Amino acid sequence: MAVTRLAVAAALSSAPPSSSHSRGRATPSSCRPLPAASCSRAPKSKALRAAAAPAADAVDEEAPASPPPSDPGRGVENLVIIGSGPAGYTAAIYAARANLKPVVFEGYQVGGVPGGQLMTTTEVENFPGFPDGITGPDLMDKMRKQAERWGAELHQEDVEFIDVKSRPFVIRSSDREVKSHSVIIATGATAKRLRLPREEEFWSRGISACAICDGASPLYKGQVLAVVGGGDTATEEAIYLTKYACHVHLLVRRDQLRASKAMQDRVLNNPNITVHFNTEAVDVVGNTKGQMSGIQLRRIDTGEEKVLEVKGLFYGIGHTPNSQLLQGQIELDSSGYILVDEGTAKTSVDGVFAAGDVQDHEWRTSCYCSWIWMYSCFVS
Ligand SMILES: Cc1cc2nc3c(=O)[nH]c(=O)nc-3n(C[C@H](O)[C@H](O)[C@H](O)COP(=O)(O)OP(=O)(O)OC[C@H]3O[C@@H](n4cnc5c(N)ncnc54)[C@H](O)[C@@H]3O)c2cc1C
Repeated sequence: MAVTRLAVAAALSSAPPSSSHSRGRATPSSCRPLPAASCSRAPKSKALRAAAAPAADAVDEEAPASPPPSDPGRGVENLVIIGSGPAGYTAAIYAARANLKPVVFEGYQVGGVPGGQLMTTTEVENFPGFPDGITGPDLMDKMRKQAERWGAELHQEDVEFIDVKSRPFVIRSSDREVKSHSVIIATGATAKRLRLPREEEFWSRGISACAICDGASPLYKGQVLAVVGGGDTATEEAIYLTKYACHVHLLVRRDQLRASKAMQDRVLNNPNITVHFNTEAVDVVGNTKGQMSGIQLRRIDTGEEKVLEVKGLFYGIGHTPNSQLLQGQIELDSSGYILVDEGTAKTSVDGVFAAGDVQDHEWRTSCYCSWIWMYSCFVS
């Protein structure tokens, strides 16, 4: 408890004390599978949406053009948290347990669904406390309930505007405007996708955007896999996957790798990786059991097409941090990730903190973004 109090106090150190209210060699034709393991993947559950998205043409003629007014009766909040992924809910739990009554904008559509990236995956097998694994949606549902139980005020709304140039900070969604002494940005990042015709059908059942999360899964263990991309993320993922796969194909659109020289050497000298230059994925192919069985490939230079037999396809083409709202207001790196003081959650603006994938282009796992939040608070 004492540590929790310290953590939240640090996050709120800039709030007034009186405030009322925080990525061409021979290829084996087949791989000897590792010992079989049953792989019952739970179906994707629906996002934690409270209501259906409004139709684009459903314009309310009567709706006021001006932004929603703030509620003068509420005063200035202690803490607004933007985002409902593992980072947002972890922050909400800590702040709510300290009786700070955090107001959480869970998001709705703009930066991903409420619950964040884990809502798009099936089994999460690395989160402590779940020895048999847990589905992403179930895990996020538990986090949400925990935040709610401690009194976090949750709104399934996208933040559309934020002003952190002067205090109190202003945060506005379509439904409300809130003023706050401090803000935690936990808006995450969105994995870039190839948008292949059958991508949705095989998402999380053959296609993944996270090798570190899914590589060890029984679905991919001992199989021939492919990674798309030519940068550091893709090369790191390809090398990582060789721990579990019997062979990895790296599909590179260009005639060279963009990755650092060291990573290029590691990939090109690895007998378990075949690099296909000038090659793009056109679609994925399934077998009669509905399982992914290969990728339709096209040579960029000749237009020649063929099917490469693989059981899994990993996207290593990067992420887009959801930091657009803060552009021009706080310091971002060249890719748009929020810059924080090393080992802390402090951004370039006093009272504004960033947690999770929106400030982390390196680790990007739910466990990491949960514990780093706590750690950040301790050393802030
Ligand atoms: C397919 C896949 C599988 C994965 N599997 C695993 C795994 O097994 N284990 C693991 O540890 N990690 C896994 N990860 C990584 C993990 O999901 C992320 O590291 C983690 O979700 C990041 O948490 P976050 O809270 O920073 O952001 P996110 O989970 O991205 O959540 C961001 C939140 O911010 C909200 N938001 C964005 N913009 C706004 C806005 N303008 N207003 C209001 N809200 C907004 C979104 O709605 C969302 O709720 C996986 C990732 C993917 C894509």
